[in-house]
Amino acid sequence: MLSVEEYTRQAKMCMRCTFCKFIDLNWVKSLRFSRQCPIDTKHAFNLYSPHGLLHSALAELDGSLEFTPKLMDALYKCTLCGACDARCKRNLDIEVLQVIENLRIRCVEQGKGPMPEHKVMADNIRKTHNEYGKPHEDRQKWVGDVKPAKKADIVYFVGCNSAYKQPELARNTAKILKSTGTNFMLLADEWCAGNYVIATGQVDLARELAEHNVKAIEESGAKTVITSSAEVYKSLKVDFPRLLGKSTEDMPYTPLHITEYLDQLMQDGKLSFKKKVDMKITYHDPCNLGRLSEPWQEWVPNYVRVIPIGKVWRRSDRGIYDAPRNILKGIPGIELVEMERNRSNAWCAGSCGGTEIAFPDFALWSAGERIEEAQATGADAIVTASPDVKELLTKAVKAKKVKMAVYDITEIILKAI
Ligand code: SF4
Ligand code: SF4
Repeated sequence: MLSVEEYTRQAKMCMRCTFCKFIDLNWVKSLRFSRQCPIDTKHAFNLYSPHGLLHSALAELDGSLEFTPKLMDALYKCTLCGACDARCKRNLDIEVLQVIENLRIRCVEQGKGPMPEHKVMADNIRKTHNEYGKPHEDRQKWVGDVKPAKKADIVYFVGCNSAYKQPELARNTAKILKSTGTNFMLLADEWCAGNYVIATGQVDLARELAEHNVKAIEESGAKTVITSSAEVYKSLKVDFPRLLGKSTEDMPYTPLHITEYLDQLMQDGKLSFKKKVDMKITYHDPCNLGRLSEPWQEWVPNYVRVIPIGKVWRRSDRGIYDAPRNILKGIPGIELVEMERNRSNAWCAGSCGGTEIAFPDFALWSAGERIEEAQATGADAIVTASPDVKELLTKAVKAKKVKMAVYDITEIILKAI
């Protein structure tokens, strides 16, 4: 979390150039798909924009602006997708996303935030350790006939969505691991990883979840943690370390998304896909796996004039973009086509940052925008690597009444194994 001094410094550096509203001109292929900030694209009003929120952060700090319902509407509709952060860092290297995150933390500290739906989610997690308020004892109900090992060097961290809402995705992941001969175990007492808890500014609960889960991983003795949830992956790699005041490399485990793990097996010649999957598909980069998943590096602000000393920048170019594409390209029969906005320029499908929980209609609109972009490629299907995103894109396809199949990447992999 930023100190007030650093928060102010970062917010003040914004020069209102508005570049963060658009993808880089050298990557723009059409006006239709040239914008990148969902709140700005929807509202076209400066409060609903990255620099509008930075400006509001300064105004709130000097007491000239309070957390009014309108400010909170903009602040919590922001999906924390990080597109503005990636874009700004190609110009000025401002920590745009961290300022917006800290503005949410201040909103909670002052007793105004988060939104009522986020408070319900937090209460559910306190009582049942999952977002939905389902019985904690049902967390491993998905297992069925897939038998994880009692003890292994690898833990599969399932996450709330796959454990409760889409158990078939948890079973897919487990079956894929088994089919590659991977010995894995589950945590005896996995809790919600808390991606949307920290995103909504509820830091104390987020820290409690990080402490519990890291302790559970340590006690398991495993050194590698695999997940097929982009949201859990970001928690393991970025949020847990920063909540505990550490860097990713100092954590007692190595976090891997299932696509990274399988891509490595492919590179090592230990995995190849035999079955043909005849499909023209496009891949949607979940923000939590791409832009937001770079390793976290703790840094105590240290400047010589305006030059930060010893800071390792997170500019969204080291996210997990290649691994899922390598896997899809390695499956015979698949034709992979790219949407205009891809990799670090990807449009947010709307489920990040807790936005869908409080503003489902806005999130659905954002997902609908992505579906239109996917349709423009001529693909039969859109594939992603996040249970939450798959769920939202599926809703968008239904709402728009269009013909487009939506898959989680584990579903495609299982067809090919
Ligand atoms: S956040 Fe960065 S890109 Fe956006 S207006 Fe400010 S300086 Fe420009
Ligand atoms: S994080 Fe995403 S939604 Fe929020 S201001 Fe930045 S680009 Fe817009």
